[in-house]
Amino acid sequence: MKQQLFLKILLLLAGISLTNAQQIVSPSTFLGYELGTQFTNHHRVVDYFSYISANSKNMVIEKYGSTNENRPLFTSYISSEENIKNLEQIRQDNLIRTGILKGNSATKIGIVWLSYNVHGNEASSTEAAMVTLYKLITEKNDWLQNTVVIIDPCLNPDGRDRYVNWFNQVKNTPYTTNPDALEHNEPWPGGRPNHYLFDLNRDWAWATQIETQQRLIIYNKWMPHIHVDFHEQFINNPYYFAPAAEPFHEIITDWQREFQTEIGKNHARYFDKNGWRYFTKESFDLLYPSYGDSYPTFMGAIGMTYEQAGHGRAGLGINTENNTVLTLKDRIEHHTTTGLSTIEVASKNTAKMIDEFQKFFDNSNLEVKNYILKGDISKITSLTKLLDKHEITYYTTKESAAKVYDYNSKINKTIQLTKTDLIIPTNQPKGKMVKVLFEPETKITDSLTYDITAWSLPYAYGLHGFSTKNNLPNNGKYSINEKENVFTKNAYAYIHKWNAISDAAFLGELLKNKINVRYSNADFSVEGNNYAKGSLVILKNDNEHISNFSELIKNISISLNESINTVSTGFVNTGFDLGSSNYSLIKAKNVALLTGESISPYSFGEIWHFFETQLKYPVTVLNTSTIERINLDKYNTLILPEGYTANTKELETITEYTKNGGTIIAIGKALTNFSDKKDFLLKTKKDTLLDKKIPNLVPFKNQERNYLNNIITGSIFKSNIDNTHPLAFGYDSIYYSLKLSGTSYKLFNEGLNIGYFSENTTNISGFAGSQALKNVPNSLLFGIENKGKGQLIYMVDNPLFRSFWENGKLFFANAVFLN
Ligand SMILES: [Zn+2]
Repeated sequence: MKQQLFLKILLLLAGISLTNAQQIVSPSTFLGYELGTQFTNHHRVVDYFSYISANSKNMVIEKYGSTNENRPLFTSYISSEENIKNLEQIRQDNLIRTGILKGNSATKIGIVWLSYNVHGNEASSTEAAMVTLYKLITEKNDWLQNTVVIIDPCLNPDGRDRYVNWFNQVKNTPYTTNPDALEHNEPWPGGRPNHYLFDLNRDWAWATQIETQQRLIIYNKWMPHIHVDFHEQFINNPYYFAPAAEPFHEIITDWQREFQTEIGKNHARYFDKNGWRYFTKESFDLLYPSYGDSYPTFMGAIGMTYEQAGHGRAGLGINTENNTVLTLKDRIEHHTTTGLSTIEVASKNTAKMIDEFQKFFDNSNLEVKNYILKGDISKITSLTKLLDKHEITYYTTKESAAKVYDYNSKINKTIQLTKTDLIIPTNQPKGKMVKVLFEPETKITDSLTYDITAWSLPYAYGLHGFSTKNNLPNNGKYSINEKENVFTKNAYAYIHKWNAISDAAFLGELLKNKINVRYSNADFSVEGNNYAKGSLVILKNDNEHISNFSELIKNISISLNESINTVSTGFVNTGFDLGSSNYSLIKAKNVALLTGESISPYSFGEIWHFFETQLKYPVTVLNTSTIERINLDKYNTLILPEGYTANTKELETITEYTKNGGTIIAIGKALTNFSDKKDFLLKTKKDTLLDKKIPNLVPFKNQERNYLNNIITGSIFKSNIDNTHPLAFGYDSIYYSLKLSGTSYKLFNEGLNIGYFSENTTNISGFAGSQALKNVPNSLLFGIENKGKGQLIYMVDNPLFRSFWENGKLFFANAVFLN
């Protein structure tokens, strides 16, 4: 567990001898400055934790990974000397309680996990982690007798150092408390997100980021009883701690609600004594499963968010509304207090806490026994990869008839199960999380939440979902026996399917290797196999310039684990012959992506991440401030992320670009650059939306709820797809979209309506405001407007949102490659 080599290197760097154990010194003494008088760079935090680990028998550290910018991720385990010697036993005993391991637990030790600085610019919490560690080791030995404290001092080192490095570069000396000053106004994109500008506190369940993926491995090894996520909020806000606000997910037990309150009351004692302001219960709900409080809650822990005033605005000290100065020292003190208070409550209630934790894992009473998924094998495979990250069990079952609830038709019926169906049982340790992720609709106790309210994975992965209240026999591991690929020098062509994002990655790799690839504009069959439109056809004739053509195709297929069909003739049974010009040549694309201050860092980051880590296809990032100076015509495609707002000159520039033959892909709010403008077809539907012509007689007290009537924060709608157009190749005629905004656009009379919401559309899962809902029927989802020699592709709903709506990604790939 102890990564000795890592440790030794760090200690050598810190100039500390391993053998010279001495009295533990405080963070201030170790670092050489008083904590709170400057922000500590991440590598110095690593130094301090390594120093304690080397000099105290109460602590060990474990490196669990690295960030995109190669900073270390590590946790530390703090407990009594005896418990530290016995850590592996304690860990296994805890997993026995969850049912993940079999056996009898010999120990009964509480496990409290404290996570700091998931948002990089909420920078007081990592400082507080060091004080908390020091106090635990030096003052709180009695609590450590029955508790293991796991401290992850920084979940997002790249974001934190982005903030800290910037702050140190620009701050006044001494620091100024004037909020106007540069040091209190962080530049775009800010330190909150990680390297790819993802919000790691929205990523726990989808695990799209390497920080999350590596953290979940150790989280699953430990399954703590309490998990705290430390944050910061606006500078004038009082401190927030548990209990959380409604809505709670229905799966949360009475004990989880009660114990949160117990912990909150203990914090209140300390805050009352010091006269510190705080609040509970008003905001920060427990519904969306991808937060650092809800995810652990659905995994049986008491999951909580603590929020201190501060974040990227506060610096070392800032004037607040009541003319007092909020200092970094205050912020550290508050977070240290709640961290220690949490451990205190855990230590005083260990037996009860562990018993109740164990009860959480009895899932025999869940009404739905199994979720059943039917559909494309690549899509099922990508879902199983997500389940593996959460260590959720799945299997296949015997061929039989089953009574089910059908997600798509919303009726109960009997279906035939086959060997290729994926079965996910709820009677397993992670059964409650299975329910949260797979149930077709989430029960919402209160609509007052600003995050998405629907995420049901069958819709997200483009699979047909069913649930059943019956048990289904486990007929073994889910594995697909794909037929062996055949590669021969005499192949007339190779054919590859096109209906999953892995197919687009395969195409990207072929193009990077200068292989000429075509896509089929119609369905066809050859040598006994049927192929849908969009299928990739790689003709030998197109690739005479490549000497080792077959070898290259073979290597790429093997390296990406893609199956490919070999045909020896171009003469088809149905459709067009393979040599026909109905197979369009795919040109290698030169893709540009805009970034800059008006753009949503998240949306930009999602696209950047999509190209680099999923398609693995090059993208050139252009700053909006440069687009008038450079020759845009070099690029086939220009992507405008959410939030991009062009000034008049920029709009002229990009309009000229499309007229010259460029393709623009505009996402979400970037559509407002074109909507309701005389030269463009796009028109908003605003008959009812926040209509200012109607006098607002809603009582002031109800204004916030009334506002909710006009928004959609994330719910699932059924749309119709014109899959005869390449933008929708690989899709069925029905697509479930995650709608992220209350803004709707009229259907085109002249442009192409490739995806749209029909007359009777309504939200099939999640909350949608009643007024906003009225605009969705007969509105656009994906549309194309031709302009001169080029085109504008409008994506009303962002298919790359948080990178988890897996089934939307191929639309994006189609927009890039198949036009
Ligand atoms: Zn935060």
